[in-house]
Amino acid sequence: MPNTSMPNTSSVRPLNPPAVSGRVLGTAIGAVLLLLLLVYLVAFDQGAVSQSGMYLHELMHDGRHLLGVPCH
Ligand SMILES: [Zn+2]
Repeated sequence: MPNTSMPNTSSVRPLNPPAVSGRVLGTAIGAVLLLLLLVYLVAFDQGAVSQSGMYLHELMHDGRHLLGVPCH
């Protein structure tokens, strides 16, 4: 009589994560960093870090309001 209380694990294989090349990984990391830089420039730059005065703020003003970032 077979033991039915334990699942049959003879066909379970270990998980193999999909291979990701270094080039793809580097591209993905670069894209995320560029996106974070863009979000910073649109939403948070007030000229203190970029030393641009209010130029970037005024340039990104519509995008800032579109995203609902507190502004004025
Ligand atoms: Zn505004």
